[in-house]
Amino acid sequence: MLHINDNFQKLPGSYLFAEIARRIKVYQAAHPDADIIRLGIGDVTKPLVPAVIEAMHRAVEEMGHEETFRGYGPDFGYDFLVNAIREGDYASRGIEVAYDEVFISDGAKCDVGNIQELFSSDAVIAVTDPVYPVYVDSNAMAGRAGDYVNDRWDRLVYLPCNAENGFVPAVPDRPVDVIYLCYPNNPTGTVLTKEQLKVFVDWAREHGAIIIYDAAYRAYVTTPDIPLSIYEVEGAREVAIECNSFSKTAGFTGTRCAYTVIPHEVCGLDGKGQRVELNAMWKRRMATKFNGVSYPIQRAAAAVYTEEGQKQIREVIAAYMENARIIREGLTAAGFTVYGGKDAPYIWLKVPEGMTSWQFFDKLLDECHIVGTPGSGFGPSGEGYFRLTAFNTLEKTKQAMARIGQKKW
Ligand code: PLP
Repeated sequence: MLHINDNFQKLPGSYLFAEIARRIKVYQAAHPDADIIRLGIGDVTKPLVPAVIEAMHRAVEEMGHEETFRGYGPDFGYDFLVNAIREGDYASRGIEVAYDEVFISDGAKCDVGNIQELFSSDAVIAVTDPVYPVYVDSNAMAGRAGDYVNDRWDRLVYLPCNAENGFVPAVPDRPVDVIYLCYPNNPTGTVLTKEQLKVFVDWAREHGAIIIYDAAYRAYVTTPDIPLSIYEVEGAREVAIECNSFSKTAGFTGTRCAYTVIPHEVCGLDGKGQRVELNAMWKRRMATKFNGVSYPIQRAAAAVYTEEGQKQIREVIAAYMENARIIREGLTAAGFTVYGGKDAPYIWLKVPEGMTSWQFFDKLLDECHIVGTPGSGFGPSGEGYFRLTAFNTLEKTKQAMARIGQKKW
């Protein structure tokens, strides 16, 4: 009989969101009149903007006529989208990205999860802690994380991010092959300055490591001089792969479009000690396992870079960030210590002294009828913290803060 990949047996299961759903269900059954406000949502709630919808409609129409119908598209994306990205996200900020360094895909989740196929099975992986779980689980499935013991993987290198270090991780204290960084950060909502990011780029260059940089929330940066791309840092082209997404930038969570940039300089060693471009490996992988994002969706994504598209998505993001401001100020006025929420749609708060993240979850649900996400679900350093998101409506967000403001914490 088939022997399965036993690494799957080591995964602790999707405990976090299943457990949140279970607790809400139990609470709602016991309190049917409770008007629960969900500030745990990690998904956008506002519709696609008109410029995107119009482009999508036009492309759908083209698919219905023989002269304009399209079958399989190019493996790595249509020219019009690749070039819109190169211009809109890079050249306009003084960064050169070659045409064949951009790979269009159906999601940053897929890209950050699949990229590890390029690493040797014994590569050593470092992640910031707390962390977006995909980096960890995708490496665990491939056997690189070791065993899950006492809430941590024994072969992963964790880089703690907490109030003590101002949510600026230290570089690894031992050799690692890959470092996953996500900025603006999910779940903490914090960012790194160019100088702080440069420390990682320099370390990677010196130690022969590579960086997987997840910039899914780049569109939320408002503070001047915070880098939107790791390539704003000198030398990053030698060591960094960057993953971006239209999900949070333009509401594409249900529409699906993203892209990854792999500069030709980023290399690893093969079994004979020869340098190999990861760009060439990814091309081979994508051509084998992926058949492209649909034409109407790529047209819709390209519309994000038009003048109207930019104006319209900025308004949506500003609305979410107004919610973030309301949450930050509401929590601060109620006596909480809060982080993030200035350059990201996530607010990370310290739970009251002596409580665990889960105890605070229960208290917030029971006393305010508000749902958030316990920090401990994102990794060991998340214990004692809690994540709220800015994706609910303005009205609900205000209501939630009014409820929190009425209580003594
Ligand atoms: N990367 C991070 C850090 C995220 O938080 C998310 C979604 O929540 C994603 C990637 C997923 O992006 P996509 O919708 O493009 O798969």
